[in-house]
Amino acid sequence: MSIAQEIAKIQSDLAPYSSKLIVVTKTRSIDELLSVHACGALDFGENRVQEMVEKQAKLPQNIRWHQIGHLQSNKVKYIAPFIHLIHSVDSFDLLKEINKQAAKNNRVIPCLLQMYIAQEESKFGLDKQEAIEILENPELANLSHIEIIGLMGMATFTNNTNQIQAEFKGLKAIFETFKSQQTGIASNRVHWKEISMGMSGDYLLAAQEGSTMVRVGSAIFGPRA
Ligand SMILES: *Cc1c(COP(=O)(O)O)cnc(C)c1O
Repeated sequence: MSIAQEIAKIQSDLAPYSSKLIVVTKTRSIDELLSVHACGALDFGENRVQEMVEKQAKLPQNIRWHQIGHLQSNKVKYIAPFIHLIHSVDSFDLLKEINKQAAKNNRVIPCLLQMYIAQEESKFGLDKQEAIEILENPELANLSHIEIIGLMGMATFTNNTNQIQAEFKGLKAIFETFKSQQTGIASNRVHWKEISMGMSGDYLLAAQEGSTMVRVGSAIFGPRA
């Protein structure tokens, strides 16, 4: 199938759910990204800052860029002028740097806290207690150029659907707890809206489990080199 057909299939799979497609464009060429744009898909996810910045300069300006990979504080300044959503916030220090660079650009940058949900050691992310510490940090109220709008998680890389489903349910449960307990709301910097979970192999399962954004790459473009 072509890129356009793959995108149409995923969008029709997602249509019954309130989950939207972020097309993960890392390692893909400018021509491939232009094909995606031609389909009307406007949310692009990259995990390396340099690659995103280079592509952003060459592509139509109505694309919404999502930072989905681990973000180092010293790289925030390069994406601050245009980034639409940072999915991978995993420390208060990073949040402070995003706030500082957003202020320089006269912007408010939306962020997600990246939660650790997998049974793997290599993944980045916060546990629930660490997230609460960020959300209840009294300094959060001073960060007027960021907004925390939800959570992101990556399931274990496995074929075990039951395990992936349990991890998605776990992330959704944390989200619902934070939402119902209004965790962080007093800072005025937190709005519980989004859950970013689901990738090529499990986007449908994620949508069924309450994801609001799925991040899909190889199901659209084929395997990465
Ligand atoms: C690469 C990547 C994806 C997409 O992975 P696919 O298996 O190609 O769909 C999603 N989320 C993150 C954080 C990634 O780095």
